[in-house]
Amino acid sequence: MTASHRPLKRFGQNFLESAWAEKLVRSIDPQADQTFVEIGPGRGAITLPLARSARHVVAFEIDRDLAADLRATLPGNVTIVEGDFLDLTAPELVDALRRCSAEGPIRVAGNLPYNVASPILFKLTELVGAGVPLADAAVMLQREVADRLLAAPGTRDYGVLTVLIGHVAAVDRLLQLPAGAFRPQPKVLSTVVRLRFQDPHPAVVDPRVFAGMTQAMFTRRRKTIANALLAYGSPAGIAPEQALAAAGIDPQRRPETLAIAEIAALSDAYANARRRAVL
Ligand code: SAM
Repeated sequence: MTASHRPLKRFGQNFLESAWAEKLVRSIDPQADQTFVEIGPGRGAITLPLARSARHVVAFEIDRDLAADLRATLPGNVTIVEGDFLDLTAPELVDALRRCSAEGPIRVAGNLPYNVASPILFKLTELVGAGVPLADAAVMLQREVADRLLAAPGTRDYGVLTVLIGHVAAVDRLLQLPAGAFRPQPKVLSTVVRLRFQDPHPAVVDPRVFAGMTQAMFTRRRKTIANALLAYGSPAGIAPEQALAAAGIDPQRRPETLAIAEIAALSDAYANARRRAVL
C-alpha cells in the first residue's frame, strides 16, 4: 500500500482491522466452489481472507490509487475492477464474471461506504432483477440502516428500505461491530447483515408500481393510508379508496402498519387498474 494514501471521506473509507476482517470472513463462510463479488475492497482487508477460501474474487473499487495497489499485491484469483459500483450494469457484471470463468454460487461481500450504502443495496436488487444470479450478500452497514432492513411493521424503523429490500431478500444479522474495529473510527456503530436473494415474495403485477407506490406512501407515514396514497396520485384514474377496497385494507390504517404482502396487494390494485385502462 502506498504510504501516501490517506483515507478519503468522500469514498466512505473506514478500513477494517485485520482481526475483525478475519472474523467477518469466518461468518460469511466462503467455500472453494464460490465466486465473490466484493464492493469496495479498499486495502484488501476482506479480499485476502476471502481469496484464500473462495474460487475467485471480483472486486470493484472506485479509488484509482487503491485499485492500482491491490492489483500489484493480491493473488491471482482476485480481479480488481476500477470504477463506481453504482454505474455497473448487469451485462458488465456478467461479462466480468465470465472473464474469470466464474462457476458455482455467486456471492457478494462488502464493507460498504456508508454514504452510499442504500443506493448500493438497491443496485444489488436491480442486478438480481435483471437476471444476475447472485445468491446472497453479506454487507457491513451503519447500524441504523441494518435496523431499518430488519424492522417489523408498526415500528419506527419500518419503511421504504425494509419493504423494497425485504420483498426480494430474506435479511438476517451476522455481526455487530464497535467503532474501534475500523481505522479511522466512524462516528457510528456497525452491523453486518446477510441478504439472501429470492424471487419477489409475493410476486407483483408490476414491480415499478410496487416501488413507486411504496416510496410515495411512506412520505406520509403518519397519515391514514387513504390519505398517504394521495401522494401517489391516481394513475389510471383509480382513487385510494378503490385500490384499498380491492386489496381488502382498512383505509384508516397507517402506512407503517402494512405488511409487505398487503403493500403488494395494494400495488396490484393500481397495476391492474392501469392495465385495464390501457387495454
Ligand atoms: N473493504 C475495505 C475494508 O473493509 O477495510 C474498505 C471498506 S471502506 C468502508 C469502503 C470502500 O469502498 C473504500 O475502499 C472506497 O474507496 C470504496 N468505495 C466507495 N464508494 C464506492 C463505489 N461507489 N464503488 C466502488 N467502491 C467504492
